Amino acid sequence: MATLLEGKTLAGQINAVTAEYAAKHDLTLAVIQVGDDPASGAYREAKKRQAHRLGIIFEEYLFDTFVPAREIESLIRQLNSREEITGIFIEQPLPRGYDPVSLLELVDPVKDIDGVTSANAANLYLNRPGLFPATAEALMRILEFYHIDPKGKEAVIVGRSNIVGKPAALLLLHRHATVTICHSRTQALKDVVRRGDIVVAAVGKAELLKGDDFKNEAVVLDAGYNVTEGRTVGDVDFKGAVAHVSAITPVPGGVGSVTTASLFHNLVKARQLQYGT
Ligand code: NDP
Repeated sequence: MATLLEGKTLAGQINAVTAEYAAKHDLTLAVIQVGDDPASGAYREAKKRQAHRLGIIFEEYLFDTFVPAREIESLIRQLNSREEITGIFIEQPLPRGYDPVSLLELVDPVKDIDGVTSANAANLYLNRPGLFPATAEALMRILEFYHIDPKGKEAVIVGRSNIVGKPAALLLLHRHATVTICHSRTQALKDVVRRGDIVVAAVGKAELLKGDDFKNEAVVLDAGYNVTEGRTVGDVDFKGAVAHVSAITPVPGGVGSVTTASLFHNLVKARQLQYGT
């Protein structure tokens, strides 16, 4: 039976650090939502509740779907220039008609707690200090918490998005893993996955990877979050895998809770980048 890499205790520890820091230095999170996508609205509300729990000031800016892009741009510039704003988060997806890349790019990189600007992508690429996507950070924190050292290990990442797969690959590479990234055009996916000492599933396809796709010694980190028939499941068939691999994150209760904690901890990092303390 696999070791369960649960996220709750670790998330609690990260949140305690963030709350302690927030009690000493005012942290303010500004969240922008354009349009009324229900999932984005739910994520924004969840961030609001978590900010209140951690003692973080929360400002929200809601726009109708048809607001001209220049109004959002002007808000981002204002938030960049306000010293008391620690971090800026733009809910995605943006409605059709907006260019997400150009809007996200306006965020001051030291306030970019979602790690979406090209400046932070460059920092990640070059292994310099910066603000990086919370899910990828969460995966590294889980490995560290459970004393799993990626050095010299074969890491296989399924998914190459800018917010999970690619940053996870770079962070693992910086920790001296030998990294392979798979995607929808990868041939013989299961053969590649079976090579992984560490496998990250970041696909967005419910239970795509089955237990016997992995080698027995594998550590499986499932970033997937899929709601099907009222059940929340990962990108890995948990029941099949837990009997088969050496360690695995459950869904829910694994990567997700550490991701939220890492996102809020990015406010601490952001303020340190802005003020040096
Ligand atoms: P994206 O849809 O942006 O990327 C999915 C990736 O999976 C793509 O690179 C795609 O390949 C690849 N892929 C799709 N189908 C297959 C397949 N059959 N075989 C191999 N690769 C495939 O998703 P995200 O990275 O945003 O999210 C991934 C998962 O992580 C989702 O379940 C999402 O809900 C979850 N997530 C969880 C978070 C958390 O806090 N736990 C936070 C963010 C996301 P290609 O590039 O070729 O299209």
